[in-house]
Amino acid sequence: MDDAPGRGGGSQAIAFIDLQAQRRRIGPRLDAAIAAVLAHGQFILGPEVRALEEALARHCGAAHAVTCSNGTDALLLALMALGAGRGDAVFVPAYTFAATAEAVALAGATPVLVDCQRGSATMDPQSLAAAIEATDRGGSLRPAGIIPVDLFGQPADYPAIGAVAARHGLWILADAAQSYGGALNGKRVGTLARATATSFFPSKPLGCYGDGGAVLTDDPALAALLRSLQQHGRGSGKHEHLRIGLNARLDTLQAAILLEKLAILDDELAARDAVAARYAAGLGDVATVPTPPPGLRSAWALYAVQVTDRARAAARLEEAGVPTRVYYERPLHRQPAYRDFPCAPGGLAQSDALAEQALCLPMHPYLEADAQDRVIAAVRKAVA
Ligand SMILES: *Cc1c(COP(=O)(O)O)cnc(C)c1O
Repeated sequence: MDDAPGRGGGSQAIAFIDLQAQRRRIGPRLDAAIAAVLAHGQFILGPEVRALEEALARHCGAAHAVTCSNGTDALLLALMALGAGRGDAVFVPAYTFAATAEAVALAGATPVLVDCQRGSATMDPQSLAAAIEATDRGGSLRPAGIIPVDLFGQPADYPAIGAVAARHGLWILADAAQSYGGALNGKRVGTLARATATSFFPSKPLGCYGDGGAVLTDDPALAALLRSLQQHGRGSGKHEHLRIGLNARLDTLQAAILLEKLAILDDELAARDAVAARYAAGLGDVATVPTPPPGLRSAWALYAVQVTDRARAAARLEEAGVPTRVYYERPLHRQPAYRDFPCAPGGLAQSDALAEQALCLPMHPYLEADAQDRVIAAVRKAVA
């Protein structure tokens, strides 16, 4: 998810993700926010960090927001706070970024890989149920929790996954690294699971100028535990360490930048919605386009179409000056670090198909209508 502009093609290069356009909009405000931090000098846990946590909680409706160093640490901190450890099975989709399963393994638990649904590209509740039952029967691991991933910005099917979780007494930790700002049935991402981990990596829908992340939760005890874990397991005072934790704080500078970006996020999400609607209208008859069900709002971190001959389509689009990216070329069960972990009994065929056919098109809030039309025309030609 970088932001290099596309080469070649028509009048003006099309950017896959254009962070500079956002900077042109709010540059002076960002510069002032950064200057204020340099002037007060509280670089670690300065006032902007707490201000951002309050603004995030207000924005998404969660009772507590605990910021941290990045999205991977947000997952790890949440897993530690939920008590995941040795002997625990944590169910994750096979078609996701490595960090989802990585955090589980770092916490000492075992990731169990579950298949995805072809249309939504998110966790398949039936594959999940089968994986939990197989783990129960196997007897060597204890099913503990589930990490649905809101892939490409689209919230997973929390109602169906929640029903499976309730049946088996498992917690749900949402990997919302790509979906902050999204919503499902009137509830925003951050309130759809027991705990929600998000990332502020620069190219995510809400990104800073470096690494950052947060955990959102309604549970005050979990929030207090997260705050302790994030600062070396601190107790009430500076000199007491109650548990083994991490150094996983968000820099004050990044918090100051995020406060300015959060102020325009809803406006940017509306612009992303408009791009997605235009793409769907222009491409729905030649490619499989994402079609969020009623009540679901994607944050459109990425716009992935599914095409049968992806290599040919991507090459033709590059010739036409339209930059594309592939996420994720190899699902976790085909990665050397993850292929030995257990898989759902029905197999991971849909994850494999997504890994072969998903192609991400330029998507950002500042993609103008004529650029969108150039992308649409080029895709129509490329898949013809
Ligand atoms: C980006 C991402 C992460 C990790 O976030 P970082 O801030 O880069 O550590 C985790 N899961 C998913 C699905 C992601 O896209």
